[in-house]
Amino acid sequence: MKILVTGGAGFIGSALIRHIIDNTEHYVINVDKLTYAGNLESLSPVADSSRYLFEQADICDAEVLKDIFAQHAPNAVMHLAAESHVDRSIEGPGAFIQTNVIGTYTLLEVARHYWARLDPEKRSAFRFHHVSTDEVYGDLDNPEDLFTEDTPYAPSSPYSASKASSDHLVRAWSRTYGLPVILTNCSNNYGPYHFPEKLVPHMILNALAGKPLPVYGDGSQIRDWLYVEDHTRALLEVLTRGKPGETYNIGGHNEKRNLEVVETICDLLDQQAPSERDPAIASYRDLITFVKDRPGHDKRYAIDASKIQRELGWQPTETFESGISKTVQWYLTNRSWWQRVMSGDYRLTRLGENT
Ligand code: NAD
Repeated sequence: MKILVTGGAGFIGSALIRHIIDNTEHYVINVDKLTYAGNLESLSPVADSSRYLFEQADICDAEVLKDIFAQHAPNAVMHLAAESHVDRSIEGPGAFIQTNVIGTYTLLEVARHYWARLDPEKRSAFRFHHVSTDEVYGDLDNPEDLFTEDTPYAPSSPYSASKASSDHLVRAWSRTYGLPVILTNCSNNYGPYHFPEKLVPHMILNALAGKPLPVYGDGSQIRDWLYVEDHTRALLEVLTRGKPGETYNIGGHNEKRNLEVVETICDLLDQQAPSERDPAIASYRDLITFVKDRPGHDKRYAIDASKIQRELGWQPTETFESGISKTVQWYLTNRSWWQRVMSGDYRLTRLGENT
C-alpha cells in the first residue's frame, strides 16, 4: 500500500511512520505543514528509507493536495494533522478551526474526488482513516462510566469541539458520498519524541532543569494513558482490518490522576537521575506546585476499548508503569532531540536536508 499520512512530523504521526516503515512493506507519503509542532528530526530513523517521502504542505490548500494525490496515487489516507494543544486552543481558537475543521473538510473533498475516479477495485479498497480523540465525548461524572463508541459528543474546549466537528464531517462524507472512512478516538498518548509543551515531557524537562512542576488545580483530573507505540499498532490494525464506516475507541486501561502522573515521573527521576537533582531538595517531588485550574477543565476521561479488542484482537502491551519508565529513560538518553526543540534549532531541519 501507499499510505498518505497527514501530520507525520508530529508526535503520533512520526511514531506511526516509524512503525509502518520498520514493520511493513508499505510506502508512506508524509504530508505536513511543519507548524511549531512538526519536527522532521523525529523521522531521522526512517528518513533514508526508499519507502518514505515527505511533502511539505498545508491540508487547507486544496490545489497542492490535488497534485500530491495525483502524483503519489495513495491507497489510503491516515489523517493526523491537527492543532492539538488544549491550552493553545483556549488562547487562540482560530488556528484550531482552520486546520481541524477547514483542513479536514478540504482533505475530505480532495480525497473524495480522487477516490471517485479510481477503478472499482481500488475504489472499494481505498480507506480514509480519521484519527481523533476521546476528548470529543466531554468528561465523565460517575466513576464507573466509560466512553464507548456510542457515547454522545459533548466537547468542552475549542480543541475538542474542533475535533468533534471534524469527526462529524468525516461521518457525513461516508454517509452522503460513500467515502470508505474509518474513525478512531484515542485517549492521552505519551512516549518518545513528545513535544515538550505536553504534560509528561514538560514535567520531565522542568524537573531536570530544577524548575517548578505546575499542576493544574489539585491535580485530581483523571486521564487514561496509552503508550504511543501501542496507539500506532492499533491504528495500523484498524486501517488494514477495520470495517469501513466504523468507529473504534482506543485506550490504555490506565486511568491516572494528573498528580499521580507527575509524582511517578518524579520518583523515576529520583531513581534514574539522582545526580541531576538540586542538592537543596530531597526529591523531585519537592518541585511540584499547584496552579490555577484550566478553564473548562474536564474531570475524567476513561475509554472502553473492548470493541477493538474483540473485533481486531488489539490490546496495549505497555502498562503505565512500564511505558512511563521507558519514556523517562528516553528523555534522559536523547537529550539532543529535546534540546534542539527547546532552542528552536529543530525548525532549521527542512526538506532535502536528509534528517
Ligand atoms: P502534534 O501536535 O504533535 O502534531 C500535529 C502535526 O500536524 C504536526 O506535525 C504539524 O506540523 C501538523 N500540522 C498542523 N497543522 C497542519 C496543517 N494545516 N497542514 C498540515 N500539517 C499540519 O499532534 P499529535 O499529538 O501527534 O496528534 C496527532 C493526531 O492525533 C491529532 O489529530 C490529535 O487530535 C490526535 N490525538 C492525539 C492524542 C494525544 O494524546 N496526543 C490523543 C488522541 C488523538
